[in-house]
Amino acid sequence: MSDKRLAGRVALVTGASSGIGNAIAAKFGAEGASVVVADIRREPKLEDEQSVFDRLDAVGADYEFVEMDVTDEDAIIDALETAQAEFGGLDILVNNAGIYFQNQAHETPIDEYDAIMDVNLRGVFLASKHALESLKVSDHGKIINLSSIYGLVGGPNSAAYCASKGGVSNLTRQLALDYASDEINVNALAPGIIETAQNAEWRETDEELLADWQASTPWPRFGTPEDVADAALFLASDESEFVTGHVLRVDGGWTAW
Ligand code: NAP
Repeated sequence: MSDKRLAGRVALVTGASSGIGNAIAAKFGAEGASVVVADIRREPKLEDEQSVFDRLDAVGADYEFVEMDVTDEDAIIDALETAQAEFGGLDILVNNAGIYFQNQAHETPIDEYDAIMDVNLRGVFLASKHALESLKVSDHGKIINLSSIYGLVGGPNSAAYCASKGGVSNLTRQLALDYASDEINVNALAPGIIETAQNAEWRETDEELLADWQASTPWPRFGTPEDVADAALFLASDESEFVTGHVLRVDGGWTAW
């Protein structure tokens, strides 16, 4: 009997080629899960980032890559069929794919608003909707959504992003209620600043903003994708069985002020 925390489980992680999703997929694989890596790209966004496939190979995990855009309902259904065909079902859905543009509301082009809502909120809804049938027959059904600290509080210059992530936080609570009787845990993660491609440009170029963020984050560093993956592992594991409808902050105390 394996002592790995996700032995025998099947996980589908969206946006798993880069950043936080890459770290979650690798961690789940290391803990014994078979992983469907679902992304619109294969290679990670940052040059110095390790390929998720190399990481999964290194721990001997079973995995499949599916090219999947979370805005495309048919592609989501195909990806879930891959999980069924290759690994016999689905136990854990991680709705991680997300995009971020900075703008105040009066300067936000409606195309930008629609794109953020399509990926960050509609994508979470669609993948959850179609995964629920498989999760209901799993003995370990889990949905883990990537919200944000900006899904708990407002943030400057981020109108559409805050709207989308606020929706993710409350959709998490709602789904938790409807599917508790099916013993499906539905939780979210609310990361603070995590060093990924999503913020690489301003971390390298905007010293003032960087100093502001450092000053408002009590823990004396920014987060890493591994910090978020560790929290995701808790939410994916049996240890969190009585935890549902929760939005877990992984923010170095940013929201504790
Ligand atoms: P990231 O480094 O940009 O990686 C996101 C991955 O998702 C990329 O591979 C990206 O591919 C892919 N993706 C984008 N749109 C997609 C779509 N429509 N369908 C499928 N895959 C798609 O982002 P991250 O920083 O790891 O963020 C992961 C999640 O955490 C997001 O939901 C984000 O909002 C949330 N989050 C991040 C932070 C942070 O500080 N990094 C903080 C709070 C919350 P392309 O690059 O080709 O688009």
